[in-house]
Amino acid sequence: MRVTWAVTSTGGDLSFRLDPEDEITGRASDDYPVKLAINSCSIGGVPGDAHPDLFAVAAWTIVAPWTRRRISFDRAISAELAAAFHDGWGIEAGPVGAQARQAGRTLAISYSGGADSVAAATIYPEAPFLHFRRVAHRRVPNRWPHYRSDVLAGLAGTTGRAVTTVTSDLEYTLAEPRPGYPEHHAVAAGALLLADELDLGGLGFGYELGSRWLGGGRYLHRYTPDNPMWSPHGRWGKLFAATGVHIVLPVGGVSEAITMRVALNSDLKGQVRWCLRGTDGPCRTCGKCLYKELIQAAVERRPLDTPLTADRPVVRKWLKKPPYGGQEMIEYGLARVPGIENTPFARALDYFEATEESTSWLDHCYPPAIDEIPAQWRDQAAAFMAAHVGFMTEAEARRVETWGS
Ligand SMILES: [Zn+2]
Repeated sequence: MRVTWAVTSTGGDLSFRLDPEDEITGRASDDYPVKLAINSCSIGGVPGDAHPDLFAVAAWTIVAPWTRRRISFDRAISAELAAAFHDGWGIEAGPVGAQARQAGRTLAISYSGGADSVAAATIYPEAPFLHFRRVAHRRVPNRWPHYRSDVLAGLAGTTGRAVTTVTSDLEYTLAEPRPGYPEHHAVAAGALLLADELDLGGLGFGYELGSRWLGGGRYLHRYTPDNPMWSPHGRWGKLFAATGVHIVLPVGGVSEAITMRVALNSDLKGQVRWCLRGTDGPCRTCGKCLYKELIQAAVERRPLDTPLTADRPVVRKWLKKPPYGGQEMIEYGLARVPGIENTPFARALDYFEATEESTSWLDHCYPPAIDEIPAQWRDQAAAFMAAHVGFMTEAEARRVETWGS
């Protein structure tokens, strides 16, 4: 893979060329197959003079799935970063010849406006926000016009925090499964390029217990302490650390029930928005809205409020046998939502024996998640969890560690 950055007056343009051994259909770090659409993209709202290691890792968040053996950058990287590529991926990266970047002092939050990201932001009230906003690619047709990135960016701008919005069409480098991040870390591409300007030493993400420890979503459905995407000792954790921008997961120890509760009790509750479709509020009819409504109803201990019925296509995945993405929260909801047997989730009741007792571990914080937050930001997260959430007992922590086994 050969990578070139062209600095423009508004940001940076990335182009990349595959080597003979590279492949058009690669795999993201969660092992999901992703197909390349186009070998160029732009990142707007970033300076042109970032450290070369930052340019390199920003590019890697986009080109990693298609790179097999080597990558050459258009500016020399540090030996430390080259070692992280080698140790993490077996990739020969170069040329080498720069001093490593020193970590900055600031923790910023990668802010999407969803409940998980709002919860992460609530733990650090002084942290500035970095918001990724999707814009159209100049050469790829937009087949996703309902995705309201403008609405999300507008909401981010009304939080009262310092917000830096990065614009990018990088999601259109992906042909399949659909426009999206080639690697989950691509949401941070612009943040990396801003790291010198903002003196960043850490970037906080809203990945919660399910994403970090239970391998939810499209990832394995079992306990994964060595999660290659988010653990500090994993390949991405070490790569980011080599640039002096540590991956920080402030809510990595708590479930989506907790992030929902924290977000809806926070000063930012008016800006919480997990639906990418609605303009004046969530659309209430997409799969994500239904899933989040289950969690919110469980947290508020009230009946489900949805216009969706079991015959609707977005409901279909919960009519099938598990495993489901976010299965721990489905169990949590089944155990807590009054009248759940009269909702689209009724069929899922056949597969679980969920009770409040069997799901109560999801109301507390998994302590190892706090331990892995870098020292300078750890105490603040620990104090927040002690005051507002509470820590898991050893028996509850074992529920995390035996998940899926
Ligand atoms: Zn929706």
